[in-house]
Amino acid sequence: MQSHPFTDLPLAARFLANLATLGYHQMTPIQAESLPAVLEGRDLIAQAKTGSGKTAAFGIGILHRLNPAWFAVQGLVLCPTRELADQVANELRRLARGVGNVKILTLTGGVSMRPQIASLEHGAHIVVGTPGRIRDHLGRATLDLSKVQTLVLDEADRMTDMGFYDEIAGIVSATPRQRQTLLFSATYPDDIRFATAGFLRDPLEIAVESRHDATRIDQRFYEIGFEGRDEAVARLLKHYSPVSALAFCNTKARCRELADELRAQGFSALALYGELEQQERDEILVLFANRSCSVLVATDVAARGLDIADLDTVINVDVSKDPEVHVHRIGRTGRAGGAGMAHTLCAPNEKKWVRLIEEYQDAPATWDELEALGEHPEAGAPAPMMTLSIAGGKKHKLRPGDLLGALTGDAGLTKEQVGKINVFEFNSYVALDRRVARQAVERLSAGDAPAPDFGAIKGRYFKMRFIEV
Ligand code: ADP
Ligand code: MG
Repeated sequence: MQSHPFTDLPLAARFLANLATLGYHQMTPIQAESLPAVLEGRDLIAQAKTGSGKTAAFGIGILHRLNPAWFAVQGLVLCPTRELADQVANELRRLARGVGNVKILTLTGGVSMRPQIASLEHGAHIVVGTPGRIRDHLGRATLDLSKVQTLVLDEADRMTDMGFYDEIAGIVSATPRQRQTLLFSATYPDDIRFATAGFLRDPLEIAVESRHDATRIDQRFYEIGFEGRDEAVARLLKHYSPVSALAFCNTKARCRELADELRAQGFSALALYGELEQQERDEILVLFANRSCSVLVATDVAARGLDIADLDTVINVDVSKDPEVHVHRIGRTGRAGGAGMAHTLCAPNEKKWVRLIEEYQDAPATWDELEALGEHPEAGAPAPMMTLSIAGGKKHKLRPGDLLGALTGDAGLTKEQVGKINVFEFNSYVALDRRVARQAVERLSAGDAPAPDFGAIKGRYFKMRFIEV
């Protein structure tokens, strides 16, 4: 493989040093192809799959042009959903450590306008948001986009799928003509090409190989009718016992049905679909990432674009009719050099879709027998961790270290028994080793807690409860 170190780019020494501390040494293919042109100020249309490093490709571009001493919105990133906006903002914050004091603000729906307006009054260098909410701020004249130098449309195909075209066009017209526009999309069909042509000026077009690297993903197909699919999924999970598996179903109803069935069999399974409340979605993703939920059953729309690390297995409960969707689904596993497995259940009349997949990936499908999956235990295994939800967060000056301190101190856990800690504005989540979680938390609520469901952290009592999966 050809090497493309970041040091090849005309970036400041301090910026390069920060990339190195983030563990970014070599550019990913999309970064290597786009960054030289992006740094020169060219417009760009880039097509690449999830997990290919698109955020840094545009993030480095925005930060390169940004003047931290100038208090104006110089960079604007539009994303389809709040989770994606949060992910992008977090990645930009990490990258911005190499620049200085850069204020990055997310503006998305699902939260009230007031605090957003207050933050805007304090000034922001970069705004990351969803089209609807950005449009609302423009309508109220609480956001000034007239100084934007770099405009990014992230996951453009999904934003247009979601019907955001008019909002996007309105937002684009509120930015200066003399700007750089970078468009990223997992797919690039003609309707998007047509819709966005007017936003871009002589763009460089690149497409990074979207076919998965067959050597990293062990892909198997199983013939089975529509009946008995839940049983088949359970069988696969029992046989391979993955730490984290993502199962795709075509509808919300199927997602819920399968998740319920898997839970009944002893697995820690949750369903993720479009109509969930934002807070429920956030919570589900926290539980999946911290290993309190080991099987996430999702629709394509709900799972798209999410950066889920360490996913070892993807299960397609239905075959996708679109081979590109299939490849995106299975591309969630086998990331970052790790090995992954992808299982696809297929009814006899779905075989035509498998033939399309074979053509698309230019490799024959490997068929396995479900019955041949050796001995398996009667019950599924629950996830190794359990999540404690605490009604205290950044606003209460709680930091991850405080939670870790309380759990390894007063509650008597070892560091290894405490998993991922997420501290949000008003609440926090901590993953604990399931075997010792309850007794540890009982120790926190010993003493003079105001009620049994309160526990002490740093000498203060917070309401806390376990989230049952
Ligand atoms: P995409 O937007 O294409 O789906 P992301 O930008 O979210 O992908 O990147 C996926 C993951 O890869 C992130 O966790 C990110 O921190 C990491 N990453 C990106 N670029 C590099 C790099 N050059 N070296 C190492 N890790 C990287
Ligand atoms: Mg992305």
